[in-house]
Amino acid sequence: ANFKIEGGKMYKRRQSREVSVGNVKIGGNNPISIQSMTNTDTRDAKATIAQIKRLESVGCDIVRVAIPDMTAAKNIAKIKSQVNIPIIADIHFDYRLALEVIDQGVDGVRINPGNIGSIDRVKMVVEKCKEKNLKIRIGVNGGSLEKELLEKYGSATPEALVESALNHVKILEDLDFRNIVISLKSSDIYKTLDAYELISKKVDYPLHIGITESGSVKKGTIKSSIGVGALLLKGIGDTIRISLTGDPCEEVIVGKEILRSLDLLNDKIKVVSCPTCGRCNIDLISVVNEVEEKINNIEKDITVAIMGCAVNGPGEAREADIGIAGGKGEGLLFKKGKIVRKINGDRLVEELLEEIDKY
Ligand code: SF4
Repeated sequence: ANFKIEGGKMYKRRQSREVSVGNVKIGGNNPISIQSMTNTDTRDAKATIAQIKRLESVGCDIVRVAIPDMTAAKNIAKIKSQVNIPIIADIHFDYRLALEVIDQGVDGVRINPGNIGSIDRVKMVVEKCKEKNLKIRIGVNGGSLEKELLEKYGSATPEALVESALNHVKILEDLDFRNIVISLKSSDIYKTLDAYELISKKVDYPLHIGITESGSVKKGTIKSSIGVGALLLKGIGDTIRISLTGDPCEEVIVGKEILRSLDLLNDKIKVVSCPTCGRCNIDLISVVNEVEEKINNIEKDITVAIMGCAVNGPGEAREADIGIAGGKGEGLLFKKGKIVRKINGDRLVEELLEEIDKY
């Protein structure tokens, strides 16, 4: 995934080893995958399946579910049988839950080996993961750092996060297990950047990136875009999760948009739209929202422009393959900056979608 952005600098992705999670490959030159986490009660299989299906429909690549107890763990096979994307079980402390979800056919486990007790317990989990070729994600979080490290570093510094992750890594490596993905999350962007930069020089495991507890959809989108965007621009990050306090589908939509903004998303469709001004004669905001939503899952290398007026629109969007420019009660369809025909005002979205389809 090394390429030169036109007129810009070379984007160079950190080299990482490849780790598989079900049918999704993380790391190496594989596309950066988008993850989310269900917020349904995993003990309620029906609700969890419904939410995962919604996540699939907006383009989620991998989903994580919380496993608070054995009832939740025993639901994994049922949930898996109804959905298509790989499932990662999020487990804290209890190795028996890990063993159960693996038996249930989960695709990966997020567990910190240093937190599950004796080495025999870790061994049991690791052996089972090896048997089924599962990955383990070590997830270090600034808010739940080990007491010793907090004492040693005074707070959850980047060095403390990295040391914690490397301690967990060592436990797995000593058991000859290397199907590892690492995350080092903090709600502080600067600490997160430093921590990932530090660890990226020490190991070649794929990195799961994100800014944790980043807030509501609006605030969290901005914070995550800056944090995750900054990491991606440094070539760091093999899979992303945008944490938002809201519908998990929003996390996927935002994640896709971050990758799309950096030309790192597999689907190549791009929408450009003008900010509108006093010349705009149509309800551009609704048109843009509707078109963006409808083309979210289209995989085409095409740039679509939606512009407010015919005076400047086509010219401003010369680079676009197809576009519309608003006029009085109508819109003008243009291709590569040239107007080709008029469209009735109430058919703008439909006809634009038809043109995209034909393209
Ligand atoms: Fe204003 Fe037209 Fe430019 Fe949109 S395209 S910002 S409406 S001049």
